[in-house]
Amino acid sequence: MAARALQLWQENEQRWNLKLFFPTGVLWMAGKDDSYERAAMPLMKEARVSFEKLSAAECAKRWPQIEFEDVSWSIYEPDAGYLVARRGCEAVFNAFLKEGGEYRQAEATPGPIAANRMEGISLAPREILNADSYVFACGPWLGKVFPFLRPIITPTRQEVFFFGTAAGDLRFTEARLPVWIDNGKHVFYGIPGNQWRGFKIADDTRGNVIDPSTMERQTSAEGLAAARAYLRRRFPALADAPLVESRVCQYENSTDQNFILDHHPETKNVWVVGGGSGHGFKHGPALGEIVSDAVLGLKAPPKELGLGRLRECTC
Ligand SMILES: Cc1cc2nc3c(=O)[nH]c(=O)nc-3n(C[C@H](O)[C@H](O)[C@H](O)COP(=O)(O)OP(=O)(O)OC[C@H]3O[C@@H](n4cnc5c(N)ncnc54)[C@H](O)[C@@H]3O)c2cc1C
Repeated sequence: MAARALQLWQENEQRWNLKLFFPTGVLWMAGKDDSYERAAMPLMKEARVSFEKLSAAECAKRWPQIEFEDVSWSIYEPDAGYLVARRGCEAVFNAFLKEGGEYRQAEATPGPIAANRMEGISLAPREILNADSYVFACGPWLGKVFPFLRPIITPTRQEVFFFGTAAGDLRFTEARLPVWIDNGKHVFYGIPGNQWRGFKIADDTRGNVIDPSTMERQTSAEGLAAARAYLRRRFPALADAPLVESRVCQYENSTDQNFILDHHPETKNVWVVGGGSGHGFKHGPALGEIVSDAVLGLKAPPKELGLGRLRECTC
């Protein structure tokens, strides 16, 4: 699915004459437990994704600006990279309008279900919208819209930091460094200098469970201290780099971290899509094909995306 999504992102770049994907390469650093990386390699081979398996010593030679202590080995994907999310969403929005789509901003509430069908949804303040099918892709709000999803989609609070690198120092820009994820003791990931915003790093550990409508968007002193401690260890030259920007976001992972695409348990004309957080965005074009085939009744979605796999689900 990732390979298909990348192909579609690149086709869309051509179609819209817009740069969305930056092929910086991606480095996966394995920790003591390397089961994730070991499981990934056969799948990458099968999908013909090019990669190199590198020892920690080889990594240290190639990227001397990283301290590879505690890293057992790494996977390097030369053709992978990062996407610019805001520009990508805006491009999809504009393409949707250009193709005749209508965009409305309103709070939607699911309507009553009778005889296995939802007949209309209500839009605040007072409007009923009728359609053949309804797709709810409400991200971290899915559990608020459909309480039966609360046990399986958990919105958590996550902090993201951007640090300034020294003028003229290219070691921490995408000219010299790939996107990286460290699957060791503390799972951090980062993008070197995307869109000149500084060196992005974020802790992937799941934060507190929150309400995405009311969550405080100010980063915490503890979060910043943890990010700095990590920088000091893994990127020692950035130990005292100034913080230039910070963001608070929410993950909306399902309990097994995989995507959800299924119809509402009581009706076949309502679909729920989500559970994938930022991975959902990256896989968006490929997932979108599967969603449209499912909603139009052309092809049933893969069982692995169904709600039935999630035992905690109360549906
Ligand atoms: C700054 C930032 C950095 C991030 N970084 C990462 C990252 O590094 N890794 C990662 O995994 N994730 C990251 N995320 C989170 C990731 O972007 C989201 O989890 C992902 O976009 C969810 O996609 P989605 O389309 O399912 O939902 P969303 O993009 O959240 O869209 C859901 C939409 O539904 C709307 N909605 C909700 N309820 C209703 C309703 N009742 N009626 C009508 N509309 C409704 C919302 O207003 C929203 O527009 C980041 C987010 C931000 C903001």
